[in-house]
Amino acid sequence: MENFEQMGLSPDLLKALRAMKFEKPTEVQSMAIPEILKGRDVYVRSKTGTGKTAAFLLPIMQMLQRGRDPGALVVVPTRELALQTDGVARKLAANSRLHVTTVYGGVSLNPQIDSLDAGTDLMIGTPGRIIDLMERGAAHMDGVRFLVLDEADLMLDMGFIDDIEYILKSMPRTKQTLLFSATSRKEIMDIADRHMNNPFHISVGPDDELVVTSIKHMYAIVPGTKKIATLLAYLKTRMSANSKSIVFARTQIAASALYSALSDFGMSPLLLHGGMTQAKREMAMRRFKNDKSGILIATNVAARGLDISNITDIINFDVPDDPIVYIHRVGRSARMGKDGRAFTIFSSDQARELKNIEYYSNISMEREQINTDEFKNVSFGKYFQRGRYDSDRQGQSRGFRNDRSGGFRGRSRDGGRGGDRSHDSYRQRGNYRDRRK
Ligand code: AMP
Repeated sequence: MENFEQMGLSPDLLKALRAMKFEKPTEVQSMAIPEILKGRDVYVRSKTGTGKTAAFLLPIMQMLQRGRDPGALVVVPTRELALQTDGVARKLAANSRLHVTTVYGGVSLNPQIDSLDAGTDLMIGTPGRIIDLMERGAAHMDGVRFLVLDEADLMLDMGFIDDIEYILKSMPRTKQTLLFSATSRKEIMDIADRHMNNPFHISVGPDDELVVTSIKHMYAIVPGTKKIATLLAYLKTRMSANSKSIVFARTQIAASALYSALSDFGMSPLLLHGGMTQAKREMAMRRFKNDKSGILIATNVAARGLDISNITDIINFDVPDDPIVYIHRVGRSARMGKDGRAFTIFSSDQARELKNIEYYSNISMEREQINTDEFKNVSFGKYFQRGRYDSDRQGQSRGFRNDRSGGFRGRSRDGGRGGDRSHDSYRQRGNYRDRRK
């Protein structure tokens, strides 16, 4: 459809859209909104940045009846995405009296419980915290008429499959289910088959699995202790005044160490990891989003699924655990232009990981010779406590904490510790070899 008016949206919503300066529907919006308004289950393959949030929020808000308990539940993989969705929902609800409650781990439960107690029409949240609130009897799902699974493939990659199944099974039978995913992998199609009622399929833009081929993939392979010097030399020699790059580190400690190293060399990076306060994370994200250039050092969890445009470079200081994480980082965590570059630093014992990424991502990576002379005196030990940080594979077994944002896995109760079960480790999802089938 050409415009929002033709979709029959309410004056309240049209007014909110004008205030947001959304003049015309995006492709996914014009395809999905009419189908959702017809009451159909809808399956959308599209990535972040296409306007998918409003594509599900607008029709839901149009149809949502006000009540005490949530009439709509939106499940998202990370708290950043929860906050992003919350922001759009509140703007769209500006002229209606719909109440929005957004829940995620890592923060106190009480304000979230109070907000639910006060009455909520639309609930947004991460799987672990939603289940926690359900199990505590604070979130009642009997009234849910609309269920959205956003970034469903990421939720599966993050090991949320049991949580998603649990949530799906806890919902009333009669509801409309909307599923959004960047890729049409088999596991996603399985969920659609089992839990959706004859869904209408919409596909927008290229599948992320293919997007990575348009990016230049480079790597260096160096002794573990030379990784910082390699990173500094790469940033110094390859970045321009217009570069906007994300440097991925595996853990909070590594991210903080890189922050110190880059700061020492005057590169003024921004830092984003799950151990920072929510306010600091939001400030870092806002600054990086608004800046035209710059370097963000991030752990995987913190940066996942963010709507940040104009990224020129993705740099993997630590090699992702699983090739699929590589694909997510370069194809989706950041929206890269066609001339984007990805640079991954492997340590000398990681030749196999390199082959795995090439094989499973269906790309070939070019080796870069990085001259580190200028940084040869950079002390690895100064930034990383010796013995705590080692090669990627050994990191975890030495008790080196992943960025779990205070989360943990399993069906156990949170016990008020505030976990959102987000985590950087993709290992539980199974062996790489499974992807060959
Ligand atoms: P999303 O894919 O939902 O994360 O949206 C990506 C970006 O597009 C966000 O910054 C939205 O504010 C923006 N956006 C979504 N729909 C529209 C629209 N119809 N017109 C203009 N901008 C939009």
